[in-house]
Amino acid sequence: MKNKGKIFGVIGLGRFGFHVAKTLAQARVEVIACDSDEEKVRRVADFVSHAFVLDATDEKALKESGIVSADTVIVSIGENIEASILIVVQLKELGIKEVIAKAATPMHGKILEKLGVDRVIYPERDMAIRLAHSLLIGEFIEEIPIGEKHSIFEIKAFEFMHRKTLKELDLRRRYDVSVLAIKRGESMLVNPSGEEQIMPGDILVVLGTTEKLSELYEKKP
Ligand code: ATP
Repeated sequence: MKNKGKIFGVIGLGRFGFHVAKTLAQARVEVIACDSDEEKVRRVADFVSHAFVLDATDEKALKESGIVSADTVIVSIGENIEASILIVVQLKELGIKEVIAKAATPMHGKILEKLGVDRVIYPERDMAIRLAHSLLIGEFIEEIPIGEKHSIFEIKAFEFMHRKTLKELDLRRRYDVSVLAIKRGESMLVNPSGEEQIMPGDILVVLGTTEKLSELYEKKP
């Protein structure tokens, strides 16, 4: 498993932090979780390896928790932006390899980025976009947003594509959708040529806009 043997820290055990800590712990990786609220800490104490009640803006308490030994720390504090920023600064100063932080607003996210956070998460916005996209283009397996409008999607090959070559489908010219790879069982055809035929069960890795993909899905040429 990816990240097996790594140590994760989760600071802030609201709904988001709780589920991150619980899911990681259930996958049997080491998790150090902390929150200033005793009740929140009690809720995760059964799952995670180490759980602490502490104010994470307090550098001394943070060091004592052992979170310094974590490879990745997830800061899941949205409401108290000041606390989130202070904690991120301390984590960067302590030399944590990877810091991931939840942002409550775009401005909060911008500040976190400027502070050198490796990954800023907007859980509600991202889930909402993902849900809307899945309603527009049908169920997709994975989405990696790149830029404002474009995403890389992993989709099941539509039925009308079966046994047609990429050249015949002509997706790039007709829909501005590029097929980057075809996953077929265990194999992965990267940069497929125009002669490649789509088979039932294929998973396509495509680059395009949601708008164009939904157009493609609706028209089923
Ligand atoms: P969610 O939407 O995920 O439930 P939220 O962003 O609304 O969370 P917040 O109220 O911002 O939740 O805080 C998340 C958690 O972080 C809370 O449980 C809170 O007790 C904790 N927290 C806030 N400040 C600190 C701090 N300085 N040190 C440790 N924990 C803190």
